[in-house]
Amino acid sequence: MKDIDWSDYSLETQAIRAGHRRTPEGEHSIPIFPTSSYVFNSAEEASLRFTGQLPGNVYSRFTNPTVTAFQERLALMEKGERCLAFASGMAAIMAVGMGILKAGDHVVCSRGVFGNTVLLFQNYFGKFGVETDFVDLTDSAAWEAAIRPNTRFLFLETPSNPLTEIADIAELAGIAHRHGCLLVVDNCFCTPALQKPLTLGADIVVHSATKYLDGHGRCVGGAVVANNEIIDKQIYPYLRTGGATMSPFNAWTFLSGLESLAVRMKAHCDNALALAHWLERQPGVAKVHHPGLSSHPQHALAKTQQSHFGAIVSFELAGGKEQAWKLIDATQMISITANLGDVKTTITHPATTTHGRLTPEARAAAGIRDGLVRVSVGLEHIEDIKRDINRGL
Ligand SMILES: *Cc1c(COP(=O)(O)O)cnc(C)c1O
Repeated sequence: MKDIDWSDYSLETQAIRAGHRRTPEGEHSIPIFPTSSYVFNSAEEASLRFTGQLPGNVYSRFTNPTVTAFQERLALMEKGERCLAFASGMAAIMAVGMGILKAGDHVVCSRGVFGNTVLLFQNYFGKFGVETDFVDLTDSAAWEAAIRPNTRFLFLETPSNPLTEIADIAELAGIAHRHGCLLVVDNCFCTPALQKPLTLGADIVVHSATKYLDGHGRCVGGAVVANNEIIDKQIYPYLRTGGATMSPFNAWTFLSGLESLAVRMKAHCDNALALAHWLERQPGVAKVHHPGLSSHPQHALAKTQQSHFGAIVSFELAGGKEQAWKLIDATQMISITANLGDVKTTITHPATTTHGRLTPEARAAAGIRDGLVRVSVGLEHIEDIKRDINRGL
């Protein structure tokens, strides 16, 4: 196979073509390499590979050809120099912490991040002497005020879950760099098909590949994308030692997920925007959160920072938890599950599921009200999605 430099191809093409180094068998579809170790031609070659003086595979906790293909493809799509794959999105976030932080360091994190990310920073990094302060995602002054001399990175998700608030990545990158910190962006909700944080100044992108990158709710996986220096010095040594490696089978699944990412994301976003507009007109709905609505506080920013508005829609029912549960239970087609980023539409009640382990005070501070329902809008026909939600309205 010709050795093509995919970096000047568009994302749609990279997603389909990049990363596959065809073997002498001439296979058209990328193979799975289910092997834990690799064989060397001599004792000398084994020694050189172990020390890294000779490139090549040693052991699948370090590298595996199917996993490498996924990493190369996602790195190109995010316009990053390198990518490392992990066993889950949480394992990827853990690797950023373990690779970069030491006891006595400090992190600033947005309040609305994924519940397990909050617990990881507070309960686990906290146990080893790393302090985390949580600030409002959209309050730049609060981010800057929270930075201390020992702050190592700012961490955020945009759009946030489940309220779809939008952070100004370029502005926060500027603030981080002025104070000698890194900016880490969890790009799970947009994927590189809608937003490329590294091109806006972020230093590290993390992914839960479990969501849109797979897109079909099949496998759990994660990734870290950054420059060569961060990957080589801070993330890879931890991956190799810590061992939360992605399996080749999962990498193969994610590779096929990436192939349709751009068309899926566009279709997801079209359905979500239509649903958000429709929800805004329903009498029982007190408020709809979606960056594509002109009522969204960061609608203008979303327009410039993202190529589409994303496919998460959340809405508040005036009747609180009781009405939210009633609406969820009245659905027939939509799946009641906290997972998101699937071709199947999913519905969840954040206050009692994804954010249920937060204290009531923390939940209130994050704006998660009892009447809030989150929908991850899938690719079924929009009229069927509306009809299903309408049953409980
Ligand atoms: C799901 C999710 C994670 C965690 O990913 P896992 O693959 O479930 O470990 C992290 N961040 C966001 C925004 C998520 O939605």
